[in-house]
Amino acid sequence: MKPVQKISLKEYNTFNIDVNALYSFFCKSEKDLFEILKSDFVREKKIIILGGGSNLLFTGDVEDVLILMRNKGIEIVEKDKETVFVKASAGEIWDEFVDWCVNNSYGGIENLSLIPGTVGASPVQNIGAYGVEVKDVIEELEAVNIKTGEKKVFKNIECNFAYRSSIFKNELKKQYIIINVTFKLSKLSKLTLAYGNLQNEINKNNPSIRDVREAVIRIRESKLPNPKLLPNAGSFFKNPIISNQQFETLIQKFPELVSFPVGENKIKLAAGQLIDLCGFKGQKEKGVGVHEKQALVIVNYDNADGKTILKFSEKIQQSVFEKFNVKIEREINVYSAEF
Ligand code: FAD
Ligand code: NAP
Repeated sequence: MKPVQKISLKEYNTFNIDVNALYSFFCKSEKDLFEILKSDFVREKKIIILGGGSNLLFTGDVEDVLILMRNKGIEIVEKDKETVFVKASAGEIWDEFVDWCVNNSYGGIENLSLIPGTVGASPVQNIGAYGVEVKDVIEELEAVNIKTGEKKVFKNIECNFAYRSSIFKNELKKQYIIINVTFKLSKLSKLTLAYGNLQNEINKNNPSIRDVREAVIRIRESKLPNPKLLPNAGSFFKNPIISNQQFETLIQKFPELVSFPVGENKIKLAAGQLIDLCGFKGQKEKGVGVHEKQALVIVNYDNADGKTILKFSEKIQQSVFEKFNVKIEREINVYSAEF
């Protein structure tokens, strides 16, 4: 296989950053991937994997080899009365996969409706929303080692899943390409409805997983900007997790802070609220700004480039640190030529 030379990535990332990729491969099957990895052109070069480009920011042209995961396929590998194991290829569109599961009455990922991106990226940051994380339903995944070309099965426990994190975002970053994911889904109706106003939005006795999916879609559409209209990459920052001790000090000074206990001696704060309290909500400068309804989302309002967006995000981080003495980490992945 030969790379496609010099393409604009504007339509391949939800921030609409107009950078070029010098060498791109559109990987449509597992066989394609093995061919790409063993080709003379690719060996010894650095590789960047792209799914739907909804969780990253390009700050310059991509001079490394770019592999766009476009392999498709959904297969039931095993089922019994209560459970079904479904294997989906990395290049499947996540929300189309959720819809397929809901149509077949396979429950477990309906709360993760309308999250952009691909199936293959879902374990990378352990996507989560409305009280569910994808780690709750991942049985195992298959990934290819970029250096050796060998395929490896990672069982759930080996993925080191944590809040918006996994081994693929940390120790094994840029070392493996996920080619498919097997989900353990339920044929029984076990719903997760405790998050926020989800139950109220459903407003029905005995809701189905379809009802949950539709309610999540309605809530999301009412407050989150559609990247097709307002380019963004969802939450730019992760919610910070701090110690109980730090929280006790903070809450004396800022009693309005919302908080959620996570495990022993740890408290999760809402980064969006911290950013809002620093006065950034709705603020715009140099074509970039903070969304007016959700302060965690940075929007590319007017063709800002990646560096401008990054600088703006650093200003927010600095401001939050100065006011609350809390560091908010980026959730999105930044790609620059020197990365
Ligand atoms: P990309 O952005 O293409 O890639 C993300 C990272 O994963 C990159 O480092 C990339 O190299 C790596 N990667 C991608 N595919 C593979 C693969 N096959 N193998 C190995 N590495 C790979 N996220 C949530 O968790 N919850 C939400 O509710 C949520 N809502 C969002 C709403 C909006 C409007 C937007 C724009 C984003 C939202 N996100 C959310 C973030 C994003 O959609 C998810 O992180 C999604 O899983 C990213 O998928 P992608 O295919 O676009 O990944
Ligand atoms: P929200 O409901 O306004 O809540 C604000 C924050 O408070 C969220 O970040 C959430 O943390 C936390 N929270 C609220 N209720 C909670 C509860 N019962 N238990 C634990 N934590 C709670 O948030 P939103 O912006 O509308 O987003 C709704 C959901 O979609 C959230 O789960 C959010 O993570 C997800 N989302 C993610 C992205 C992304 O790019 N990562 C983008 C849009 C939406 P959590 O984030 O930990 O859930």
